[in-house]
Amino acid sequence: MSLAEFALIERIRARSKGREDIVLGIGDDAALLQPLAGHWLAVTADTLNSGVHFPAETRPADIGWKTLAVNLSDLAAMGATPAWGTLALSLPSAEAEWIDAFADGFFALADAHDWRLIGGDTTRGPLSLSVTAFGHVPQGQALRRDGAQAGDDVWVSGTLGDAAGALQLWQRGTLQVTHPAADADMEFLRQRLLRPTPRVALGTALRGIATAAVDISDGLLADLGHIAAVSGVAVHLNAELVPCSASTERVIGREAARQCALSGGDDYELCFTASPSCRAALAEIAYRLSLDITRIGHVASGAGVHCPGSHARQGYAHFL
Ligand code: ADP
Ligand code: MG
Repeated sequence: MSLAEFALIERIRARSKGREDIVLGIGDDAALLQPLAGHWLAVTADTLNSGVHFPAETRPADIGWKTLAVNLSDLAAMGATPAWGTLALSLPSAEAEWIDAFADGFFALADAHDWRLIGGDTTRGPLSLSVTAFGHVPQGQALRRDGAQAGDDVWVSGTLGDAAGALQLWQRGTLQVTHPAADADMEFLRQRLLRPTPRVALGTALRGIATAAVDISDGLLADLGHIAAVSGVAVHLNAELVPCSASTERVIGREAARQCALSGGDDYELCFTASPSCRAALAEIAYRLSLDITRIGHVASGAGVHCPGSHARQGYAHFL
């Protein structure tokens, strides 16, 4: 069934929920919002284009999830609590089945984080999804990229390289994005690519602890390079300590997994720096959130990201 623009927007609006901080949601020329007193608004936007940011055949529910996940990940990296946002859709055609499946994935993640859709835009064109997301962070407590200090530890959440490993398998034709993989390890990789978990609870827990933070969308070395550059410090990594999943090591091999962990993008884990005096507090946070965090290096005076023995270093160097 093909929908008129109004019917399409109505189908999305029916899935969105109100809240007391939303004075006026979807339906007028603009939404009206009541920001939280004593807080800053963190604002971010990210676009996913078909064939560029996801394989064209990706299922709409997975596209919906990832469209929001990449934006909530940016809020997490700022230490912000997700609040609301808008969705700009460019669609080649307006099929009810596609919109409903997209909304299933999108609102599953939105509802899990009490994030509200409060507006957007709908146009005809090549498939492209763009979210602008807002979050709250107590004044002065945002996690920025520019606060890393010489002597800090460098930490990363979860495991790295799983999404890049899945993409390699898809490029080789051994993994389909449209169907679950029979092999449990391959299915784990597929889920890491299609359904990344924004580390929102970790981000808010790191307020007052992390000196700098970034989410890993372009690859660990590249994203840590941003922290090093804007903080005016050097980052020294121990490549052996960078956490790879057992699944990725089994499926693509240990050496390839290590390369993916250092240079592969799309993981949406958090990488952050913190004083060694915070190690006990961080262990407690990791325990409370049931989320592994791993100390992978340290900050020193100087410049750039240094990772002895890693081939990926050259690939990264031209970003310096
Ligand atoms: P306008 O012509 O004023 O731009 P639209 O007809 O584009 O209004 O949109 C009508 C209402 O629907 C607005 O409140 C807008 O924010 C909302 N809207 C449009 N597209 C979307 C979308 N993809 N997701 C959520 N809300 C949308
Ligand atoms: Mg208008």
